[in-house]
Amino acid sequence: MKKAIFLDRDGVLISNTDHYYIWKQDQLEYVDGVFRNLQMLTERGFLLFIVSNQGGISKGLYTKDDVMKLHEEMIRIFSKNRIEITEIVYCPHHPEVEKCLCRKPQSLMIDKLIAKYTLSKEGSYLIGDSETDMEAAQKAGIQGIMIKPNRDMHPYISFLVQ
Ligand SMILES: [Mg+2]
Ligand SMILES: [Zn+2]
Repeated sequence: MKKAIFLDRDGVLISNTDHYYIWKQDQLEYVDGVFRNLQMLTERGFLLFIVSNQGGISKGLYTKDDVMKLHEEMIRIFSKNRIEITEIVYCPHHPEVEKCLCRKPQSLMIDKLIAKYTLSKEGSYLIGDSETDMEAAQKAGIQGIMIKPNRDMHPYISFLVQ
């Protein structure tokens, strides 16, 4: 069975220091060390997935199309750095507007990916910067790795890549 790393997006891969919601290309600022860290995880045989809450869509702040374009650009930059993201999934809902079953801390987005790609739960991890990420990992039956927002994740993943 394949093992995977599920990555939260905002505060983990791209910086949300200056803006909570990120949907424009010029807001794309990659967190320190992210390319090297994802390269090392790839070398260790992990598939990489991004799992993100994008409630700004429900709130009407930006559209699914904006998110799709931003993700295409991220995929392009990652592949330029020899990193393949297998799939990006996001929840477009916000509880103030519409309730759903997918928004983290629910684990549905992760559960679906585990089923779709027949992933090993024992060998898989979610890397996130919030308690809701850790809760989602726990519900999905995988291990959560809590990192400091917008900081190089290396100290937290060194046990996986040494
Ligand atoms: Mg986050
Ligand atoms: Zn949702």
